[in-house]
Amino acid sequence: MKKLEEYIVPWVRNSDPYRADHLDFAWDHPELIRMMSNENPLQPSRSVLEAVGNAAAHANLYPDSGQQLKKALAVRVGLHADNVVLGNGSTDLISLVIATVVSPGENVIIPAPTFSMYARRTRILGGVPVEIPLAETNYWDIDRILAAVDESTKLVFLCSPNNPTGNLIAKRDVERILELGIPTFFDEAYFELTLNETTWAPRVLEFPHLMVSRTFSKAYGLAGLRLGYLFCAQSLANFLNRVKNPWNVSLLAYHAGLAALEDEDARMERRDLIIGGREWLIDQVNRLPLIRAFESEGNYVLIDASSLGCSSSALVASLVERGVLIRPMDSHGMENGYVRVTVGTPEENGTFIARFKDVVAQLSRTQS
Ligand SMILES: *Cc1c(COP(=O)(O)O)cnc(C)c1O
Repeated sequence: MKKLEEYIVPWVRNSDPYRADHLDFAWDHPELIRMMSNENPLQPSRSVLEAVGNAAAHANLYPDSGQQLKKALAVRVGLHADNVVLGNGSTDLISLVIATVVSPGENVIIPAPTFSMYARRTRILGGVPVEIPLAETNYWDIDRILAAVDESTKLVFLCSPNNPTGNLIAKRDVERILELGIPTFFDEAYFELTLNETTWAPRVLEFPHLMVSRTFSKAYGLAGLRLGYLFCAQSLANFLNRVKNPWNVSLLAYHAGLAALEDEDARMERRDLIIGGREWLIDQVNRLPLIRAFESEGNYVLIDASSLGCSSSALVASLVERGVLIRPMDSHGMENGYVRVTVGTPEENGTFIARFKDVVAQLSRTQS
């Protein structure tokens, strides 16, 4: 008899499991301030909670295909409901796109460091991630990206603002990549938090291989409900919808999404809170000698604390002892001493800065 392992497809057998330890730990320790996963610090607005409650009363029924939500999303960017594909979070859409265009053994170009799901989902589905390091400045190395393209390249991921670096990619550079005619997944997860809110969504009519994804997890603060969406040409949406699981978005998520779109005041409140908190955090960190916070267009700030001479994980552990959860970035292939902090409420931001200063002071003492 064959061993069970031998039945597992090789790319799954040889893959690393995704570890959700940081989330398990955070849920087990509700007393800690959660600034590690780019979540929104505010609870859903009253109208969203009400919509979810009402929908829950019909949870014995299967949801429809979400036409009403697709239409509401499409009209905002001048597109049609047929240009929208809905996902159980945008991570679901990442998997869906890979499964639709990448055969096992084929290449996927991923400028890195970036959102880790692009490479993880590629591997799990048998594709080969080709990671192209960002330049020194954290900017995309467009020449290297173009040079890495070959016959076997089936997909390019672009994330702007990029997680975790926080910067935006210039229009002309995206166009250079789109001119290749290769399926390109443009991740606008933090679109609503950028100051100018420029989007690639309407350009899917001009570039039939462009996909623009967004999520309700960040600016709208519905990470726990799992709702993401993607804009693309109708011809491409038809294929994606064949691969997509039916009913991949729950009835509760549909109704939460519709209510969130209508509650413009709640969105603006969250946007202003995050942008204000982000600029304050950057300024406060940059006042500390030898420590650098990078400019960011997202709800997170990348910090280079490598001058402290301690590892990212040791830095994170010292903050956990002081009640604050943040994310080490060495796992993202960044240098030791890089961490990422999510923008919280003004009170949470204040606590983080106070505790971070404590840690910096303690480490500077032990160093000298
Ligand atoms: C957080 C994040 C997402 C969101 O994922 P969901 O599955 O929608 O919760 C997508 N892309 C990037 C770059 C992110 O940082």
